[in-house]
Amino acid sequence: MEDCIFCKIINKEIPSNIVYEDENVLSFKDINPQAPIHLIVIPKRHMTSVLEADSKTVGDIFEAINKIAKQEKIDKDGFRVITNCGKGAGQTVNHLHFHILAGAKLDEKMC
Ligand code: 5GP
Ligand code: ZN
Repeated sequence: MEDCIFCKIINKEIPSNIVYEDENVLSFKDINPQAPIHLIVIPKRHMTSVLEADSKTVGDIFEAINKIAKQEKIDKDGFRVITNCGKGAGQTVNHLHFHILAGAKLDEKMC
């Protein structure tokens, strides 16, 4: 979608540190990390939030998160997955995305 920063990352129009990519999902490092490891996981198809998500997309994303956790070796110590939906929740990019946070004791709200 035009003017969507995450679609631009998918299309490689703006650079990012990609850690995982498959046919339907992309994951890259958050530009403003809130934990030692802070990754963003997105569907390649634009949808604004959980409110537009379908079960296939959510399944693809969580299968990717499973692989990423093992690849990044955060599966043993643990990690947090967060999605913000709408302004009241602090969603700033209107392309469905999941935060993966790890590498610190995750006591507090971080996203
Ligand atoms: P939200 O607040 O919408 O849940 O999360 C959006 C996240 O995207 C924020 O953590 C923010 O740091 C990250 N972000 C915004 N723009 C960019 C960008 O251009 N590149 C990367 N890598 N992350 C971004
Ligand atoms: Zn988009």
